[in-house]
Amino acid sequence: MFDEKDLILEAKHVTRRFPAAKGKVLVANNDINLKFYKGKTLGLVGESGCGKSTFMRFLVSLDKPSEGEILYKGQDITKLKGEKLRQHRQNIQMVFQDPAQSFNPKMKIRDVICEPLLNFKRITPAQKKETATKLLEMVELPGEMQDRFMHNMSGGQRQRVAIARALALEPEMIVMDEATSALDVSVQKTIIELITKLQREKNITIGFICHDIGLIQSFAHQVAVMYLGNIVEVLPGEAIGTEAKHPYTKALLASVFDIKMDFTKKIESIESEIPSPLDAPPGCPFCDRCDQCMEICKKERPLLKEIAPDHEVACHLFSGKDGE
Ligand code: SF4
Repeated sequence: MFDEKDLILEAKHVTRRFPAAKGKVLVANNDINLKFYKGKTLGLVGESGCGKSTFMRFLVSLDKPSEGEILYKGQDITKLKGEKLRQHRQNIQMVFQDPAQSFNPKMKIRDVICEPLLNFKRITPAQKKETATKLLEMVELPGEMQDRFMHNMSGGQRQRVAIARALALEPEMIVMDEATSALDVSVQKTIIELITKLQREKNITIGFICHDIGLIQSFAHQVAVMYLGNIVEVLPGEAIGTEAKHPYTKALLASVFDIKMDFTKKIESIESEIPSPLDAPPGCPFCDRCDQCMEICKKERPLLKEIAPDHEVACHLFSGKDGE
């Protein structure tokens, strides 16, 4: 399904450590390896605080990992500085959870959308009105809305403006950080439909961070499951309902609400709290909460192994394709 010639961006051995009180070290990301392909969506899912936003910040060069590389078309973007970094920012744009917080409330929508184009001298001030109209229509909003301010718009409309701004520079990739989490379910659906339509039209790569595995599986081509800073499973989105193997992925799936679910059955939840990243277990990060934990799990961290094409799992219950 995923062709290496379509590889746009690759994270290799990305680790992020933060110094903490009493000489401790917080490991927010632990040896992350992920690949993003042209025109495809990779959904990164996990509980709040698992390190997924920390990771996505590296992709848009808002932070640097302590170790590892982020290769964009083969070039390590963690090494870029100054004007080279500024020019590179046109390739990967970001959509945040709350546009009302991420843009200047005193700017009109026209100025919010056109700001990146003016910064890179891709349009002149005289072209703002025409450009804003086109970009608003692209996200299915009327061009006249460009005279409004963010606070005069609904949550869904604001997120459409944020998408228009992110796509204004015609990037190869956009990163969406919980971009639909604050919206009503019906609005969430229309935003997902919009981004999948724009992705088909423009062949954009999307990195989508979300804590809702039910939402992610509905449209992501690949899903990566993160737990306590570790990737524990990567598999095609369409296979997640039937092929998920890791006990944590299965626990997330078991807790998804569905209108067709049998409400007479017990709703599964994961026992106990997620451990602090300051006190992560030495072996499998999930061993304190896993009902299949074995002796080896407490001592040895399972590595991500390919168990089927495009399907990797980090769990001692599963051996790789070669039987290792
Ligand atoms: S490695 Fe062991 S503790 Fe970790 S998920 Fe697999 S079975 Fe559970």
